[in-house]
Formats: sequence, C-alpha cells, structure tokens
Amino acid sequence: MSKGLLIVLSGPSGVGKGTVCNALRGKMDNLVYSVSATTRNPRVGEEDGVNYFFKSRDQFTDMIEHDQLLEYAEYVGNYYGTPRDFVEQTLLSGKDIILEIEVQGALKVKEKFPEGIFIFLLPPSLDELEGRIRGRGTESQATIEHRLSVAVDEIGLMEHYDYAVVNDQIDQACKRIESIVIAEHCKVRSS
Ligand code: 5GP
Repeated sequence: MSKGLLIVLSGPSGVGKGTVCNALRGKMDNLVYSVSATTRNPRVGEEDGVNYFFKSRDQFTDMIEHDQLLEYAEYVGNYYGTPRDFVEQTLLSGKDIILEIEVQGALKVKEKFPEGIFIFLLPPSLDELEGRIRGRGTESQATIEHRLSVAVDEIGLMEHYDYAVVNDQIDQACKRIESIVIAEHCKVRSS
C-alpha cells in the first residue's frame, strides 16, 4: 500500500482555512484532518479534541520536551503545534492528512517532509481579510491588528509554497484544492 499525502494548508488568519478544511472533509473520503495542540483559550463553540487539544503552557512544553510535536510555533502570543504520531500513523495507513497551520510551522514541516504538498490560501484582498477577522468578533482590537500585520508577513513567504489558491468562494476554493490533490496522486514519482 502506498503512503498517503501530507497536505499543508496555510494562509493568514481569517482567510477561511478552517471553513475550507471542514468543507473538504465532507467531500474527500481519504482525507484526515490533523487536530493541533494549542495554548490559546477555546472560542465559543470550540471543543477539546475536535478543534484543538487545548493545553496549558506547561503541558505544551512537556509535549515539546518529549518530542511529541512534528512542528510548533508561537503565533500572536500562543503556542500551536502538530502532534507527530497521528500524522505518521495516518500516512502509513495510506490516508491523506491535512495540516491547517501558519507559515513558520509549515516551513518546519517542509524541512522534514519535502515531498509534502504546500498550499497557500489567499484572501481576495487585504480589506476583505480585515473585514473577515473583525466580523468573527472573537478577538480584541490589539489582537486583530497583530493578526493583520502577521498576515502581511505571511503572504510575503508564499513563494515557499507549491500552490496558491484564492478563497473568493468556499466551493471554488475547495474544487481547486481537490483538483490539486487528485493531480498529486497521479504524479509520477521517482522511488
Ligand atoms: P487560530 O487561533 O485562529 O485558531 O489559529 C491561529 C493560527 O495558528 C492560524 O494561522 C492556524 O492555521 C495556526 N495553527 C493552527 N494549528 C497550528 C499548528 O499545529 N501549528 C502551527 N504552526 N500553526 C497552527
């Protein structure tokens, strides 16, 4: 059995990565979602083990020390990281796995898995992005501004990705990502 594909989906806060991932999960049978660990507080409606594994700083540090994370990064004052075992087991089982992570973490994954597929999700414009972050209504003014300034830096690192997909409409963005994954499965790879 061949290994699954490791797919990394990055893009600035508010671009709609989570919504796109949810929509993809409903459409792509062979796709598994990697649930990250984070030290940020849950938002209303978020569940432990579903959206994130919510951890204290000490618990997160412990995961780092025990080499349980494939990558981790500090983003706007909180830690976020990808549990390693789940990713490795999923790939060995032949399923594809999607990691929805920010850019610093994605670049670390690229060092370990250069064969991964790196997709950058773009907003139609920066104004639209700002509107989406503000519209979410979950962050303070300072956090919104911090997230927007990080977004500009992140977009500057897009050249490290294999594909750029504009999220103008969820359905269209999903179709483009599905097409990328189908094409990658058809790719001839040297063994
Ligand atoms: P949020 O707080 O909006 O859920 O996530 C903030 C940022 O952290 C988003 O860009 C999200 O993709 C990213 N993120 C979520 N999980 C991980 C992870 O495991 N590792 C890294 N490096 N970033 C993550």
